[in-house]
Amino acid sequence: MITLVNELNQICTKHIFNEKIVIVDSHSIGEQINEAFVKKGHQAINLKYKTVNDLAHNLVELNSDEEIKLLDHSIGVQLTYTMLHELKEKGKLRYFEGMEITPSFSHAIYNTIQLLRLSGYTKDTIEKDAFITPVKAEDMDKILAAFEEKINSLEFIDRASLLKMASKYVKINDHVVFILQSNLRLSYLEEILLSKILPEMHYKLPLAPVFGINTPEGTSLSSIRWADPTSLSYLYQQDGASGEADLHLFTAKTEELEIKQVLEKIKMTEEPLDESVIFYTSGDAYITLLYQLSQKMELPISFGDGLPITFSRPGRLTLVLLEWIQSNYSVQVFLDMLNEGLIEIGKNVPFINSGFFDLDKMVVSKGKIAKILRDLQIGWSPDHYDKRFGNEIDRLSEEFLLDAKNTLLENCIKEHYWIWSSFKTIFKNLPPFDSTINYKKCLTGIKFILENNCKTGSAFDELSKSALLEAIEKILPYADEMLSIYEVIEKVRDFLLSIRVNQSRPKPGHLHVSSYQDGIYCSRSNIFVVGLDNKKFLGNSSEDPMLLDTERIRLGNNIRLLREKGQESLYTLLQVLAQSEGRVTVSYCNFDINDNRAINPAFVVLQCYRLMTGNKEAEFKELKKLPSSIISNDIFEDKDYWNEKLTKDVTGHMTDGVLQHFPNVINGLNAERARHSSGYSEYDGLVKIDAAQFDPLQNHEKTMSAGKLETLAKCAYSYFLKEVLKVKPVEDVSYDANKWLDAATRGSLLHSIFETFYKTLTKDNTKPSVAKHLKLIQDIAANLIKQQKEFLPPPNERVYQREVKDILACCEIFLKEEEQYGKNYDPLHFEYSFGIGDQEPAIVTLPSGELKISGIIDRVDKSKDGKYHIIDYKTGSTYGYKKNGAFKGGRQLQHFIYALAVEQHLNLGEGAVEESAYYFPTVKGMAERFSRKQDITLRTKGLDILEKLIEVIKHGHFEMTDDENDCKFCDYRLVCRRHFYPKETLELKQSNQKLKGVRAYD
Ligand code: SF4
Repeated sequence: MITLVNELNQICTKHIFNEKIVIVDSHSIGEQINEAFVKKGHQAINLKYKTVNDLAHNLVELNSDEEIKLLDHSIGVQLTYTMLHELKEKGKLRYFEGMEITPSFSHAIYNTIQLLRLSGYTKDTIEKDAFITPVKAEDMDKILAAFEEKINSLEFIDRASLLKMASKYVKINDHVVFILQSNLRLSYLEEILLSKILPEMHYKLPLAPVFGINTPEGTSLSSIRWADPTSLSYLYQQDGASGEADLHLFTAKTEELEIKQVLEKIKMTEEPLDESVIFYTSGDAYITLLYQLSQKMELPISFGDGLPITFSRPGRLTLVLLEWIQSNYSVQVFLDMLNEGLIEIGKNVPFINSGFFDLDKMVVSKGKIAKILRDLQIGWSPDHYDKRFGNEIDRLSEEFLLDAKNTLLENCIKEHYWIWSSFKTIFKNLPPFDSTINYKKCLTGIKFILENNCKTGSAFDELSKSALLEAIEKILPYADEMLSIYEVIEKVRDFLLSIRVNQSRPKPGHLHVSSYQDGIYCSRSNIFVVGLDNKKFLGNSSEDPMLLDTERIRLGNNIRLLREKGQESLYTLLQVLAQSEGRVTVSYCNFDINDNRAINPAFVVLQCYRLMTGNKEAEFKELKKLPSSIISNDIFEDKDYWNEKLTKDVTGHMTDGVLQHFPNVINGLNAERARHSSGYSEYDGLVKIDAAQFDPLQNHEKTMSAGKLETLAKCAYSYFLKEVLKVKPVEDVSYDANKWLDAATRGSLLHSIFETFYKTLTKDNTKPSVAKHLKLIQDIAANLIKQQKEFLPPPNERVYQREVKDILACCEIFLKEEEQYGKNYDPLHFEYSFGIGDQEPAIVTLPSGELKISGIIDRVDKSKDGKYHIIDYKTGSTYGYKKNGAFKGGRQLQHFIYALAVEQHLNLGEGAVEESAYYFPTVKGMAERFSRKQDITLRTKGLDILEKLIEVIKHGHFEMTDDENDCKFCDYRLVCRRHFYPKETLELKQSNQKLKGVRAYD
């Protein structure tokens, strides 16, 4: 850089008052050259940095009366997308006939159009022979023609048109001094324009030479002017190397450790941050890491390529909003947005005329909103939000009429109105969920949410929000099209989430981070190049299927070949190194955590090693010997401290003094110790219980159900969590595009169908018959399914039809089975309940007292010989049910409890119930019945089980189950921690299990 800056200074000194224009590839290069110029203490009057595009723009603006409406990239891609759709629909494409018109395909075609047009080709001049097949040439011709027609009709001018227009107005100005950057990357049209603008006398800034590889060939305008070599000019030709390079090399186990090591080295130099720069070979691998560290450490970093918009809250909100739309507005996705702090509701809402005047001054907390949405069991769909809120407000209002002084109730109604109105406003603006939606409506909806509901917490968030709004605003006039919901989501994702914000030149006081591709003109004295492994650097370069290299060669006109991309990238990196001033450190990460395998360095690293050590024969195996720690040497964040402690493998103890400040840590340590000991303690379910409250034989207000007793028998600890501590799992109704009814809802729907069917037959005093009643049961099913559909809309018609078909098949199975079974039985009671609502509980008499029981029996039948049979419909799998084995270690008690309960409640007399059956009238269950004869032996065993179970409660011995199969579908897996217990410890704790006796009954 020194030679370049000195030459620039000489030119400026020679032409002090003339206008001096440095022609650069990008503004960022101009800024970097200027920074280096100023840093060396030089100044210049009338020195400007311009791209060829800037020159074209200036010329057209000065000379043309027409208003210039430049085609923006995103509008160009959108117009290409629409144009491709139109061509495809009209059947005009042949080569691309089978291609799906996706956002990425439109991007690729738009880039090809621009490449061809900047190379001087139009629909009239395109060389059809250049393409591999005539069909492709024809398609390309049609695409160019359609594109040109589209932009002309909308009066847009793209870069190619601008350059051509500018060429008409060129007049050589000998007073302007033109200085060219070396190796300018000019398109064909740019080169033509520049050659017209440049006077014969112009300058070119030099670059340090790069020896040992082919350097890019260029025309007289785009060639490289070489300066004197530097020590790093010889990296690939070390025989002629001169001078000692300030070159360093290290390797690390992960990218994170690589970056931390870079920061550690920067810290050690004690130089200002803005003397250092990190160049990466792959942004994806390093930008996230650096951004997160900059946030944690409050480290000022400028990012040359900017940051993905999804790092900001508005970007995340947009991402999750799309998921929300796609899930038909699932409450669960909304709660994710709420909990992540992305969205707030209630602003700019016209509140429903509710009779409350101050709703606009209210704010309902996040926790309250989440609770109300969960309690209403909305699930998804705007209709559903509307209905559930409406019904709930009606219900609460009726309650309020009877209790008008209840302020809690009044507040509750107001909160419901507030949330309801907020959702109404949101749904009015977002597109309705459908198979096709309007792209424009979707974008305006997102815009509305960003403007009114998006939370921002930093300048970066504000910047991102503005970038999103600006991008949407720009595209809206061209987005009015109906597309499938999938296409719209893909398009918005591609368009909005690919935005990068905060692109920055190297800023004073900031560490700069950028791609090495932008590093040639960097003047910082401490350069790091990270990511030099053989995958990230010079991995495979592939062809562009839109325009193959053979086609590019035939077309000529400066079109670059992709097979040369690798060579160009290598040259660029070597040029960065040769051009650098000061210290250069290269590094690579030697392990891929995701693939769990070693990674090799790129060849350039070996060359660096050879130059550093003077060992020109060194091989890759020498690099493998380089040290690489598995932890960070310095502490940048909490985890570095803890990692360092962990790798030392020395047990540390917190002193009592420290512990006193953390009472919960003391509690946790006590719990951990107790859980790891063989003793059975309160941490494992041994509880001092208030038997007067929890023992159902002592507390006469307490009723038990068969389900509760089965839970107690299966795992007393889960009973303790549920019935004593009252721990409730969160019950979210989540949207699933492939499922309508969950198992419980489907089960209760089938129960209702069977009950309604039998009640109808009983009224008509007739027995079930397939010939006579198939239509009846199908009609009943259709009616109840319709009601269910209104209450809970299915995700789509396909899923709905599939589940309806299954329900109707179950009805048929049920009817066929009942036709046979009904010959010997008469159904007497359906959904017979006791201990529920005003119904008296049933009493089961145990040796030690009376147990009150509540429950609902699906069906009670009477056989021809006057005996009673209990039927329990099961709509799930028959897994866990055996023909023999009545109690399954206490886990199946319902058949027996219901037999005793119904005998007592209906005064049938002991022994009246002969049999109870679990009946599976479903496609999966194949109408299987698992019958349990309620004989004297079974009854004696059953009573003993109940007696033992009550003992468990009375003594507070709530042990965890002895069979881990019980945990498979348990709701308490997350809280009980059974899986953390070593197997032997658990066995010791359970050696005196109260449930042992119960388990003996299979
Ligand atoms: S996970 Fe297992 S041990 Fe824990 S409560 Fe559930 S059934 Fe009991």
